[in-house]
Amino acid sequence: MDWWINARIATLDPDAQHAYGLLENHALGVAHGNIEAIVPMSEWDGGASDNITDANGRLITPGLVDCHTHLVYGGDRAAEFEMRLQGVSYADIAKQGGGIISTVRATRAASEKELLQQSEKRLLALLREGVTTVEIKSGYGLDLESELKMLHVARRLGQRYPVNVRTTLLAAHALPPEYAGRSDDYISWICEEALPMAHEQKLADAVDVFCESIAFTPEQCRRVFEAAQKLGLPVKGHMEQLTLSGGSQLAAEFKALSVDHVEYLDEAGVQAIAASGTVATLLPGAFYFLRETQRPPMDLLRKHKVAMALATDLNPGSCPLASMRLMMNMGCTFFGMTPEETLAGVTRHGAKALGMQDRIGHLAPGMAADFIVWDCQHPAQLSYEFGVTGPHQRVFHGEIHNV
Ligand SMILES: [Zn+2]
Repeated sequence: MDWWINARIATLDPDAQHAYGLLENHALGVAHGNIEAIVPMSEWDGGASDNITDANGRLITPGLVDCHTHLVYGGDRAAEFEMRLQGVSYADIAKQGGGIISTVRATRAASEKELLQQSEKRLLALLREGVTTVEIKSGYGLDLESELKMLHVARRLGQRYPVNVRTTLLAAHALPPEYAGRSDDYISWICEEALPMAHEQKLADAVDVFCESIAFTPEQCRRVFEAAQKLGLPVKGHMEQLTLSGGSQLAAEFKALSVDHVEYLDEAGVQAIAASGTVATLLPGAFYFLRETQRPPMDLLRKHKVAMALATDLNPGSCPLASMRLMMNMGCTFFGMTPEETLAGVTRHGAKALGMQDRIGHLAPGMAADFIVWDCQHPAQLSYEFGVTGPHQRVFHGEIHNV
């Protein structure tokens, strides 16, 4: 067995009595990629082991889980960002071919190799900060070949780097130009062609929708969820980001893994997702980048004991920020989350949002040995500081993989 000794371990154990599940001066034993033991140093008898790492009082937490990203895409929107700040209106930018359609164009035009090269730098930024599991969505292809290409690139990233990758088909992200004025037909295409094909090629672990006044209606999202359910694929949704649409009740009906954004969620919606065990994934980076003012209903989410995940939403339009640590800080400063809530959000609850809570997200015997040894002592530092304390060691499946 390999050991990490003299550590402060924030286990994030759901049954723990202490804040963060914090254990002082403990040793963590690993074998075959799994955690085998967590014991007080006073009871540790592993001195004869070959591999002993002295954490010297450093903090160990579960590896971070970014449960909501769009990190595979072509091009970027920096020029558009600059135009907006020079005073050009959204409407004029759209007229010049800007907005999401420009990303769709660039993603369609990129070869698989180019898309992989452009996307891996974003993935690496997350990995360097302690991410060991990441979700990656399609949704900038919006035709069969390009959607599958995005998912394929996501899978290849998971094979190339020490990280768990979960893929999500998000064909219902925006209406492609060739379907202008025919959104119901586009939904039919998703249900009858895109979804079955992604499923057949084992490229989608889940199915997502953008349920919003500027995207798809709850009725259209229901059709996508029904098609996903027929194939046995779990669902999730971008819900109540800009308006209250009732999408969260719909998601709850389908026992969705998560509803994401949820700034405009009301109490009926909170009650629905609480009853279905659906995670609320909070995305403060998009809230910040879009200069939104409506915060998610934190008090209602707490009152009804909804698990709150926290993720980057890394994407070219509304959050080109590849940092979980920044999201943790923003979760506190913008949404009033406590540092304990943010750490649970990027570990245990992020894992639940991916349906992976039995393998990752907290540290206990039997769980995957995906964890971070931090250059700090107290878990609150992870939300408090940004750019100061990074991972000292990044451990994936029991092996040290600093990237
Ligand atoms: Zn998103």
